[in-house]
Amino acid sequence: MDKVYEAAVEFGTEAENEGFARMIVAGFIARLNPTLEELSDIRTAVSEAVTNSIIHGYCMKEGTIRMVCRITGNEFEVTVEDRGVGIENIKKAMEPLYTTKPELERSGMGFAFMEAFMDKVSVESTPGEGTTVRMSKKIAKEAALSGQMERAVGFD
Ligand code: ATP
Ligand code: MG
Repeated sequence: MDKVYEAAVEFGTEAENEGFARMIVAGFIARLNPTLEELSDIRTAVSEAVTNSIIHGYCMKEGTIRMVCRITGNEFEVTVEDRGVGIENIKKAMEPLYTTKPELERSGMGFAFMEAFMDKVSVESTPGEGTTVRMSKKIAKEAALSGQMERAVGFD
C-alpha cells in the first residue's frame, strides 16, 4: 500500500497569499524529491489556480481559499477551492486565450498553463457556489536532486 500524506490550509484573498500557497506546496512535496523543473511546474500551476480564485472567484473582495495537498506513493495531488462566483461554462473557461477580464490585462492562459504543467487538471464549479480545481502530477522516482530539497527546506 502506498503511504498517503495530506495537508490542508485556508487563507484569504490578499495577493501575498499566492506566494504563501507556492511555499506551502514546495515544502509539502519536498519529501518526493522533485526536480527543480517539477517543483517549478507545480508552483506555477498552484499559483494560477490561487490567482484565479482571488481575481475571478472573489473579484478581489474578501473570501477564503482552501488548498488541500495529498501525496499517494509518488503522485502529488492538490485541490484549490473557493466559494466565489463560480464558472458558467467550464469548457469555454479552459480554452486557451479565453478570459472574462481582458480589462485587467489577463491573457486567458491560466488553465492552459495548469494543463501544460500538471498531468491532470479537472474543474468542478457551480455558479453562485464556487469552484474547485483539482490537479495531479507524478514525480519521477529517481530525481536528480534526491535529498537536496528536503535538506533545503529543513525536513531532515
Ligand atoms: P490569466 O490566467 O492568463 O491571467 P485568466 O485568469 O482570465 O487570465 P484562466 O486562468 O485560463 O485565464 O481562466 C479563464 C477564465 O475562467 C477566467 O477569465 C474566468 O472567467 C474563469 N475562472 C477561472 N477560475 C475561476 C474561479 N476560481 N472562479 C470563477 N471564474 C474563474
Ligand atoms: Mg488565470
